[in-house]
Amino acid sequence: MLTSIEMPDGPEQADLRAGRAPWGYQGRRPSSEPLAQSIKTDVLVVGGGITGSMVAQHLSSRNLQVVIADRERPGLGSTAASTAMLLWEIDKSLAQLSELYGFERAASIYRRSLAAMGGLTKLVTELRLDCRFVQRPTLYIAGPEASERSLLEEHRLRARAGLPGDYLDQSSLRTNFGINRAESLHSPGAAEADPLLMSWGLLGHAIASGAKMIDAEITGYDHGAQRVHAVTDNGFEIEARHVVLATGYSMPDFVDNDLHRTVSSYAIATGPQPQKGLWPNGALIWEASEDYLYARTTSDGRIVVGGEDDDIMDPDRRSGKIPSKARILEEKLAQLWPAAQPAAEYSWSGAFGETVDGLPLIGPVPAMPRILAAYGYGGNGITFSFMASRMLAAMIAGDRQDGFELFALDRTPFSA
Ligand SMILES: Cc1cc2nc3c(=O)[nH]c(=O)nc-3n(C[C@H](O)[C@H](O)[C@H](O)COP(=O)(O)OP(=O)(O)OC[C@H]3O[C@@H](n4cnc5c(N)ncnc54)[C@H](O)[C@@H]3O)c2cc1C
Repeated sequence: MLTSIEMPDGPEQADLRAGRAPWGYQGRRPSSEPLAQSIKTDVLVVGGGITGSMVAQHLSSRNLQVVIADRERPGLGSTAASTAMLLWEIDKSLAQLSELYGFERAASIYRRSLAAMGGLTKLVTELRLDCRFVQRPTLYIAGPEASERSLLEEHRLRARAGLPGDYLDQSSLRTNFGINRAESLHSPGAAEADPLLMSWGLLGHAIASGAKMIDAEITGYDHGAQRVHAVTDNGFEIEARHVVLATGYSMPDFVDNDLHRTVSSYAIATGPQPQKGLWPNGALIWEASEDYLYARTTSDGRIVVGGEDDDIMDPDRRSGKIPSKARILEEKLAQLWPAAQPAAEYSWSGAFGETVDGLPLIGPVPAMPRILAAYGYGGNGITFSFMASRMLAAMIAGDRQDGFELFALDRTPFSA
């Protein structure tokens, strides 16, 4: 049976981010070509941001014929607004995730996320991706106010799950890092990168392995038992055995569900800091509080600070908030790390997706098994994008693995 669906327009790149981030300098966006006729391929990847790049690179390295379609400039959607803290720690703590799903399931999700960061690190190293990727520890610090969440309890749960990291009380946090908060967890296995260079680098590798990148908007799909026919804005068709949707926060209605919502987030990058302006070992810092502040350094000595999320959906209002949000982020940086010169050289905003359980949406679109979704949302969205690339490759190969249900689009949240 043939199922036909149309893709509504959805937010464009200019609706998803505003302002300027310090990414992509000296990089080159791989070139794409217009589509001049209908074509056939093994896999059509819709969207050429970091998610589509990871999927395309991985599938083409497995000798699949891949076409990547982007209606605008690949990488310049949400990927260019990311602060690219590459974390295995998930927006929901292990304690919170255990409350939702039970300890065993929550621990297995955390272990998968840790393994994904290991896989991403190996990939960047093997491909020699020039994307300012640096392995970093994380410092998960107590919020500035007294918190009900105990990081010691989180530490114990993580240790029980076999996850690495140390608990630092107030005095060891101050002695080792000069940060004045009640407690923190210090963990290995994270990294930072330039997200745009990473995305373009991966696209370059996909193209070198035979993938084709085309300028086209996908406006609809005819889903059949063996093939999907994707319709483009200029009236051609791309016939594929599978389609991967990697359209970021421009999510088609037939995928969207109650698990997911979009908010706004803000970030700044300071100018290069003097030596003492940076904290020891460039740890990626984030707060254990609901609307968390986070901070990282860059390979050229800047500090990137983000947070201040709000519910604004209108792109003009979001963009108009950048100056006032930047001032708040400067003040919060000065409180967190008084040695910094907090003035922002770059400030930007972006639409930011969240799910109720902090987990991504990865897997077949219900009732359309040949269309696979890769939506890696949240503060570790890029780690989830990597996870999606590996999981979807297994699904396309017909290799049914344990754990696919954890991120399914039609999962029932909170079944613990
Ligand atoms: C301010 C901010 C900070 C963040 N910080 C972090 C962080 O520190 N760590 C982290 O891991 N994640 C972070 N994230 C999340 C992360 O950036 C996102 O998960 C990631 O960028 C999403 O990438 P994507 O490729 O899925 O989407 P995008 O980069 O938006 O790419 C989607 C592409 O699809 C194309 N497209 C859409 N519809 C169609 C269509 N119909 N036809 C053809 N093409 C189409 C678009 O043109 C676009 O290029 C942050 C996000 C924001 C906004």
